[in-house]
Amino acid sequence: MIEPGPPLGVTRCGVCGCEHLYRQRDFNRAWGCALVALGAALVPWTFGLSLLLLALVDLIFYLRLPESVVCYKCDTVYRDARPRPRQVEFDLLKHDVIKYGKAWQEVDIESPGFSPH
Ligand SMILES: [Zn+2]
Repeated sequence: MIEPGPPLGVTRCGVCGCEHLYRQRDFNRAWGCALVALGAALVPWTFGLSLLLLALVDLIFYLRLPESVVCYKCDTVYRDARPRPRQVEFDLLKHDVIKYGKAWQEVDIESPGFSPH
């Protein structure tokens, strides 16, 4: 059941019922990669300036895009939903625990991908 909240807010995933959601920019990753690839392909003729320019275009797009809400468990994206204050940026550790059922104790803090908050 989806609880009513502030305008367009999501507190629980309507697909799997998971209450763990995070915010992310509603950015088309394929377009982002295509822009960087185009910039890299033009490097020999532009002395690297194309890569810098397209990275800047990428950044401007990224900053102007609205945020969406994503479910940790089933990856459903709620494009029209406005993130709530407790729905923070993606956390890989939380993702692994929720999605793959890893226990907090199994996490190796010496591994390069671990970042304590
Ligand atoms: Zn879900």
